[in-house]
Amino acid sequence: MSNPATTHPTSTTALKDRNRLFAEGFSDADLPILPKLRTVVLTCVDARVDPAHVLGIDLGDAVVMRNNGGRITDEALQEIATLAFMVAMLDGDSPGPFEVMIMQHTQCGAERFADPQFQRVIKGKLGIDVAGSAITDHEECLRNDIERLRNAPEVPPHVVVSGFIYDVATGQAREIVPAAALA
Ligand SMILES: [Zn+2]
Repeated sequence: MSNPATTHPTSTTALKDRNRLFAEGFSDADLPILPKLRTVVLTCVDARVDPAHVLGIDLGDAVVMRNNGGRITDEALQEIATLAFMVAMLDGDSPGPFEVMIMQHTQCGAERFADPQFQRVIKGKLGIDVAGSAITDHEECLRNDIERLRNAPEVPPHVVVSGFIYDVATGQAREIVPAAALA
């Protein structure tokens, strides 16, 4: 039996080629570790919602975190708190701004997680509880997620948070919660 990898080019092969081209033109060796925009963008893993494209985020601009739905999960919250802490440490005596932009989107797979039958199937087959990342009402979900950040003692109150819903049909990110400090 022939090895399929030798007869059919994989997506990995194509991506390796793209990286080779990228590295050939690379001139960003001196980027600082602190993101230029001092911002975390939290969004969905959905391939249509890539912040490098839809928000024009360049290399070194922002920390991009992605999970199913672009939700404030325990893990996302811990990452954000840790990053805010590290940025504050790097700032030293003159602390600068730190922002979190949450961008959820239309036609999100996390909407399917709201279906109790789908929840049961995933739980039964994989033992994974997806109820926590289910989205029924996008605007309510965004507001709840921001509230969760606000109520987390480990996230400092000076952190500026905003909430958007990106429309995969128009390319437009609609502002639902304008950028404001948590407290
Ligand atoms: Zn999604």
